[in-house]
Amino acid sequence: MASALPLAQTDPDPGFAELLAARPHLSMHAHDGLTVEEVPLARIAADAGTPTWVYSAGALRRRARALKAALDGAGLRASVHYAVKANTSLAVLRVLAAEGLGADVVSEGELRAARAAGIPGAEIVFSGVGKTERELRLALDEDIAQINLESAEEAETLSALAASLGRTARVALRVNPDVDARTHAKITTGRSENKFGVAIADAPALYARLAALPGLEPVGVATHIGSQITSGMAAYRAAYARLAELVQALRAAGLPVQHIDCGGGLGIPYRDEPAPSPEALAGAIKATLGPLGLPVMLEPGRWIAGPPGLLLASVVLQKQGGASSPGRRFLVLDAAMNDLVRPAMYEAWHGILPVAPRDFVAPLSPADVVGPVCETGDTFARGRALPSLQPGALVAFLDAGAYGAAMSSTYNMRPLAAEVMVDGARFAVTRPRQTHDDLLGRDRLPDWLREASP
Ligand SMILES: *Cc1c(COP(=O)(O)O)cnc(C)c1O
Repeated sequence: MASALPLAQTDPDPGFAELLAARPHLSMHAHDGLTVEEVPLARIAADAGTPTWVYSAGALRRRARALKAALDGAGLRASVHYAVKANTSLAVLRVLAAEGLGADVVSEGELRAARAAGIPGAEIVFSGVGKTERELRLALDEDIAQINLESAEEAETLSALAASLGRTARVALRVNPDVDARTHAKITTGRSENKFGVAIADAPALYARLAALPGLEPVGVATHIGSQITSGMAAYRAAYARLAELVQALRAAGLPVQHIDCGGGLGIPYRDEPAPSPEALAGAIKATLGPLGLPVMLEPGRWIAGPPGLLLASVVLQKQGGASSPGRRFLVLDAAMNDLVRPAMYEAWHGILPVAPRDFVAPLSPADVVGPVCETGDTFARGRALPSLQPGALVAFLDAGAYGAAMSSTYNMRPLAAEVMVDGARFAVTRPRQTHDDLLGRDRLPDWLREASP
């Protein structure tokens, strides 16, 4: 597939065939075009319209199993708690629950979603730097496995609440190991200047305090150093080595530690960048925390849910640059930054594949792929090698299953997109598209404005 890019780039984007080859749940068919498992995307678009999120149940299962196999293979006693914030779809949660995954939640809504999907409280961890009293109360009511405390203040609040309810909260102390995960500044969480966790130097005294407070049972330590970590295992190893030292200090002080929560953050290759494997992560955990002989918990979000999802969109029009930018081509889609915000927010690269068989083999030239929202930031890709696409042509944004739908908004009064799950030859709408009535129906006019007719 020859690229018509005018400049020889040192690091050319991967071609369509390369992108496909790395994503086994996708295939291109001469007649049906781009297909998820056994369902052509053209059929989904005809049924559900666009923009629509499409999730492969098979890919979700494969990834859940691959991660568990890697942990087993390293000889670790491990439990996996899927980070619900990456993708909150009930259908996605249900598939992962059936694979035996627990949940890591960061809000009342996520806790409710995990429970609604059938994940037992005993497999749920509650993380987050600002849990409200109402959220803590719900966590106690659901008797969840563990609440990860992020400050001394939160510990006091939870202790008072649990004691007043006559309950005991199992808590882990989230520590900030002050390591640089070398990921995007907006998603690094393990530096001392970040808001997350408590400084590792303060951890022994605070852990002792947890053991002394009524209503709390400290069960372990936790960390989470950032997201989309692709820089290798150095940051993980550094963080876990510090955690291991901390656990030894706690033990020496006679404080019990039952397990270690290793957090999430494992990155995925959006483009063709090298990304660490689950085996590498399991090896790093084994090497650093293994000697403690404790069970470990993992909280992966993106690694599980990212690759199995895509965003299906239609071309609204193809616009040629004017006199000041001749040769520039804009592909304007019906999806926008309100749907998939990652390119605007993190300068993220997503693979974009045409769906129709003829578009897949047509000559390529650079295009800026944009949405209709009134922001220059509403740009998905610049200078991307794509064929000429007519209005109505379909395209798929790859690896959009994590932090895609979950981060979408209704900016520009755009209804939330539909969500579809594919499982083999079956598919179903798992979240119907929001309607304009849904959107308008949320507003109320105060009496004094209703009476004053315009
Ligand atoms: C976001 C988050 C995760 C998941 O991060 P991924 O990069 O999606 O794996 C895990 N644990 C905590 C505490 C988080 O905030």
